[in-house]
This record gives sequence, structure tokens and C-alpha cells, in this order.
Amino acid sequence: MWLSCQPPQQPHFSFHTRHQNPIHSHTRHHPTSVSLHPPSTTNNNHLIQSLCKKGHIKQAIQKLTQEPNPTQHTYELLILSCSVANSIPDAITVNRRLIDDGFDKDPFLATKLIDMYSELGSIEYARQVFDEMPNRTIYVWNAFFQALTLAGHGLDVFSLFSCMNTDGIKPDRFTYTYVLKACVASDSSFSLLPKGKEIHAHILRHGFETNVHIMTTLVDMYAKFGCVTQAGYVFNEMPSKNVVSWSAMIACYAKNARPFEAMQLLGQMMLEVDDLAPNSVTMVSVLQACGSLAALEQGKLLHGYILRRGLDSVLPVIASLITMYSRCGELELGKRVFDQMVRRDVVSWNALISSYGMHGFGEKAIEVYNEMVSNKIVPSPITFVSLLGACSHSGLVEKGKILFESMIKDHGIRPSVEHYACMVDLLGRANRLDEAIKIIQDMRIEPGPKVWGSLLGSCRIHCNVELGERASKRLFELEPTNAGNYVLLAEIYASKCLWDKVLNVKKLLQDRGLEKKSGCSWIEVKRKIYSFASVDEFNPHIDQLHAFLIQLSIEMKEQGYKPETKVVLYDVEEEEKERILLGHSEKLAVAFGLINSSKGETIRITKNLRLCEDCHSVTKFLSKFANREIMVRDVNRIHCFKDGVCSCGDYW
Ligand code: ZN
Ligand code: ZN
Repeated sequence: MWLSCQPPQQPHFSFHTRHQNPIHSHTRHHPTSVSLHPPSTTNNNHLIQSLCKKGHIKQAIQKLTQEPNPTQHTYELLILSCSVANSIPDAITVNRRLIDDGFDKDPFLATKLIDMYSELGSIEYARQVFDEMPNRTIYVWNAFFQALTLAGHGLDVFSLFSCMNTDGIKPDRFTYTYVLKACVASDSSFSLLPKGKEIHAHILRHGFETNVHIMTTLVDMYAKFGCVTQAGYVFNEMPSKNVVSWSAMIACYAKNARPFEAMQLLGQMMLEVDDLAPNSVTMVSVLQACGSLAALEQGKLLHGYILRRGLDSVLPVIASLITMYSRCGELELGKRVFDQMVRRDVVSWNALISSYGMHGFGEKAIEVYNEMVSNKIVPSPITFVSLLGACSHSGLVEKGKILFESMIKDHGIRPSVEHYACMVDLLGRANRLDEAIKIIQDMRIEPGPKVWGSLLGSCRIHCNVELGERASKRLFELEPTNAGNYVLLAEIYASKCLWDKVLNVKKLLQDRGLEKKSGCSWIEVKRKIYSFASVDEFNPHIDQLHAFLIQLSIEMKEQGYKPETKVVLYDVEEEEKERILLGHSEKLAVAFGLINSSKGETIRITKNLRLCEDCHSVTKFLSKFANREIMVRDVNRIHCFKDGVCSCGDYW
């Protein structure tokens, strides 16, 4: 990584052969498209411009050789055409001639060239243009910052930002926006959050804290790093907020597993701010939050709002609506929304495919995919993530393998870490762990935590100690602070009664100052959302719920229920294990639902972790015993319990 304050080290083509054209000795400081070069618009200039507009870049370049005085506007159009034609060789030809004509000192054209190279994916050429510019006005800096950010070179942006300050160039609002975006867009292996915080301080020092655009980008940046508290602090301190700011904060909550706060903030926005109506961006986040909480009634209210505000023509909103219904367990309502769409894009189709997948209807997901392809919609990488996930939840191993092959061969999609993780999950879940390992060994990219995590999850299902240890060893290196991996390994040991090893893992967790993520479940009753934690002594309903569950367990045992005590990670008496199991958050939520909702009403629960075997068998039992349909969405999929059976067929 070099600093762009120095000259480029590997020139790809020479900028040094230029001669100064006396006509073009003028240097511009402000890049607007009004040319300060003499008006020499000849017929050739007109012709080149018209060829560019028609997209005939080759002919335009041919004509350029016959024109002694191309104008700034001619160059502007030539540069644009090279971008559209996606042609680096043409871009280089135009660039060379531009240098010969002395236009390389023109900041307006320099920004256009940087934008062009950025679009063509050649950050090094963009860097060369930047380095060769003698007079960098703020516009050139901003263009290059944007190019670097898009290319994922976040670190370079920061080095340059310091150079810019040393050069005495004052950053403007665009500069700050690009630099903040660079923090999250960086492909460096370590977090640029500390850099982001430095920029935050810089912004405050230079009096930009009242700028709504910058402060909103700051909220976005903290949100992307998962720093919800800091994002909230910036948001609350903003003297004025627009709909983008509110949406950014709502999205921050929705994307950082704080759906409850996202919904609350929407309520506040609608109450407090008269002239700000939530827009399509706000809706996408709130629908996501609604889906996370399985808050069907709230979701229906939002659907009404979307129709009233005419947002039902916005495709991402409708895709989010389909997903929301499906995540609330109402697959049919989601399908109805899909059927009513006049126009559908790949995102709409993906939403339906993943809905079927989440519910365990793998065959149906494949059917929808085939229909999509026959409708001439080109599948995206996400389509295959949804499809492979669908196959995994339904145990369709062979079909999944065929789809994976077809993705590469027929659709030219290079498998990403997500696709590999799906394949490992598909094979691992089906207890074909050797094949899963083979997939990892044959990967052409670094497996990363997602892939190893899939393998560890499968080892947990099939109680495979040896492979589980291998996967967790890699995971402890890759994500040393993810407590979930330690817990999975401990669960594998516990399932084999290897209590010494369980204790070792727990000690490791403690030594590293990590805590097991506690189980949390949510339920919506009469449009209000209630949350339950696994150790929830302060919950006002706790005594009533415990008494209810103890009574239930006595009755269930009479009818053949046996508690699955192997999921308890403590080497304690069976009775104590049963007591611990009864305190699981999803059982508390189910009990609360049974007590507080009307007969015949479906109970909808969401859980932040995987549903444990014991809660699964208790819920199956309750669906029959209490004659209730119960939907539980855990971190992996949706379970619909009815008449003593679950839609997952006990495969999850
Ligand atoms: Zn449980
Ligand atoms: Zn199930």
C-alpha cells in the first residue's frame, strides 16, 4: 500500500511524454463543465461528441486523430463513453491524447478520469491521474476518495486524508462522507473503527456537527460496526434530522438484532415529527424488525400504511413484505403479495424462494426457481444462497449438489463463502460430514468463519467430537471472541458426557472474558410484544409461568414425555437439569401465549438461538395437548407445530 502523495511507482503508461500545447496552458481551479479552453468547436468536435452519445467509441477515437483541438466537452464525452463501453484500452488511448493536449491539469477532466477508472475497476490508473495532478482542488480529492472507497482501499483514504490536511486543503461535507464510508468499505483485515472515531473527532473540531448528511453517515458507520450505543448518541445529538437520519437509526437497530427498539423508534418518528413520513427505506428496515419479532399484527398495520402511501410499487418494499409475512409464519400471505405483483425483479423471486426454504418446503423452492428462470429472470448469487439453504432445511442433498454445479457451469457464478457454507451445512446436516470436509478442502477461497461454523453446527447435531474439535480449533483462531463457538463445542462434549472437557471449554470462555449469549424469546399478544430471557427472575409473570410449566410437565410425563436433559451443560442431578430446562425462554413465551391469548389463536414466537431438542419436543406435545397451532422461528428456520408434529419433521 503506498501513499499517493508520492509519485506512482509502476506507471502503466507514460504520462511523461506530454508536450505543452500553448493553447491549453490555462489551469482551472474549479471543475465545472464550463470550458476555459478556447472555443474551437469544429465539425470534428461535433462529430466526435455525437459518436460518443451514440455509443460508437471506436469511431469517435478514430475521428479524434483528425481533430487538432478537441474541446473539454469532447473529452468529457469521450471519457464517459469509455466507461459505458467498459474499455480500458480505449480509456488509455483517450487519456494519452488528453495529456498530449495539456488537459491533464484540468481538475474537471481529472475528476472525470478518476471516476472513469474507478468504474472500470482500475484503481491504479485512477491513482496515477491523481498523483500527476499538480493542482488538486477539493473536487479531485473527493473523486479519488470515492474511487478508493469503492475499491475497498479504506486505509489509503486515511493516509491521504492526513496528506490533504497537511497540504492545507479543507475537507468539505463530501470529503467527510467518503472518508466515513471508507471505514466500513475497507477490505483490510482489521477493523477501521478507531479511524472512524478519529474522523468523528475531526468533524466535531471543524464544526460540522450540525451537518445532517455527515451526521447521518456517522450513524450509518457506527451501525455497520455494530456500535449501536454510539450510533444512538450521534442520532440523539443531531440538532436537525431528516427522514434519512431517522431511517439510518431505525436500520441500525433492525440490522443489529434490536428489532424492538427499531419498532419503538418508528413509533416515535410518527408521533414526534409531523412533516416526516416514513419512506420506502424506513419501511424496509421496519418490516425486517417486524419479521424478526414475528409481530404479525404490527406487520399487517405496516402493510396497510404501504398501500395508503403508494409504496407498493417499490420492489424492495414488497420483497421485504413477502419476507416479513413468511418470517411471521404466514407463508400464504407472503405468496399472495407475490402473486399480486405486476412487475417482479430477482429480489422479489429470491424473497419467495427463501420463504419456502425457511418453512422447509425445499421442493417448492426449487419449483419457484424453475418458474423464475423460465420467466427469463437471471438468478443472482443470493438466489443460490436461498436455494441451497432451502435444500439444506429439507435434506435435499442430491438436488442441492446439482444446483451448486449448475450455478457455476450454467450461470457463471463463482461460489462465495456463503455458498460454500450452505453446501457444508447441506451435507453436514445430512450426516455426510466426510463430503462436507472434502468441500472445504477443495475450496479455492479461504473458508472463513461461516464455513467452519456450518461444520461445527453439523458436528453438534451429530455429536461428532473429532471433527467438532477440528472445526472449533480454526474458529477459535478466526473469531476468538465469538462465545457461540465455545458453547457449541461444550455441547458436543456434554452430549458424550465428557464433563472434564466441558469444564475446560467453560474455563477458556471465562479466561477470555466472554459470556454465553443468553436465550431470548419474543411473543406478540394483542399487538404488544413481550420478551423473555432464559434466566428471567425479574419478569413480573415469572412465578405464574413457572407454576404453569411445572404442572404441565407433570401431565406431559404421564403421557410419555421424557425431558431431553443432554442439552444441559451442567454436570448436575437429573432433577436440577429438568428445572433448568423448564426455564428456557421459549417455554416461558409459549406458556405466556397459552395463558394470555384466545383459544384458537396461533401462537407466534421467535428465538435468538437454535431451538433446543427439549423445547422442540415440549412444543410438539403442547400443540396437541392444548390444541393450538404454535409457530416458533429460531435462528435457522421456522417450525410450525400442529397436532403433536412439527413441520420440520424433526430435521433442523
Ligand atoms: Zn430449550
Ligand atoms: Zn421443528
